[in-house]
Amino acid sequence: MNLVFLGPPGAGKGTIAALAKERLSLLHVSTGDLFRSNIKEKTELGKKVEQILASGNLVPDEVTIEMVRERLKKDDAENGYILDGFPRTIAQADALKEMAKLDAVVNFVLSKEEILKRLSGRRVCKSTGRTYHIIFNPPKVEGKDDETGEDLIQRDDDKEDAILNRLDVYEKSTAPLIDYYRAAGLLVDIDASKTPEKVLEEMIAKLG
Ligand code: ADP
Ligand code: ADP
Repeated sequence: MNLVFLGPPGAGKGTIAALAKERLSLLHVSTGDLFRSNIKEKTELGKKVEQILASGNLVPDEVTIEMVRERLKKDDAENGYILDGFPRTIAQADALKEMAKLDAVVNFVLSKEEILKRLSGRRVCKSTGRTYHIIFNPPKVEGKDDETGEDLIQRDDDKEDAILNRLDVYEKSTAPLIDYYRAAGLLVDIDASKTPEKVLEEMIAKLG
């Protein structure tokens, strides 16, 4: 099964993908995680995109599409995957049509108020990418990753200016994909306001 997780930043796509990949035995491909790991490893791609991510703007389509095309060619993508954070523009969705056959596009629906609470409280472990929330999903020891004990950080793009920019970018460039995929008969709306376990159950029930 090939799924796309669509939704505003902070809606819980990464959190649900981490649960769903175990339950449904799917590969989790997060374009945000791929960019961040390139930045951490200081690759050419990482250097090119670092400032773009910090500002909350989108990486150019050609760069993003090429990265996903290469990732989906690998053997581990053969048995199905969750694309988390891709596509984010109509051009990316058109390119994806040529690369993959999708079974469904899961649209995470959440109010702006809740999105702001989730993004401003998000903390991550830089090396493992594990995601926490200071109130909704706190680590066992404040400020430390549960498994490695490393310090948790706030992403640069989870600071106020970048958050507001990302929400604008979402409305302008990504929200049009809701109609795009509804017209294609692929869209499955999910109420993302519940607990992660309930969101996962609703999604699995709706996917049949
Ligand atoms: P979020 O938590 O907001 O959903 P992601 O981790 O998915 O964030 O993405 C972080 C950043 O990586 C984006 O703000 C953007 O700069 C870049 N990015 C991720 N996916 C894409 C994409 N499909 N197209 C362009 N840029 C992307
Ligand atoms: P996205 O990948 O869509 O940007 P994340 O999965 O990173 O979103 O979640 C954003 C923040 O909200 C994180 O701090 C995460 O711990 C928290 N979160 C995710 N899902 C839920 C939920 N169902 N209820 C409460 N908080 C959540």
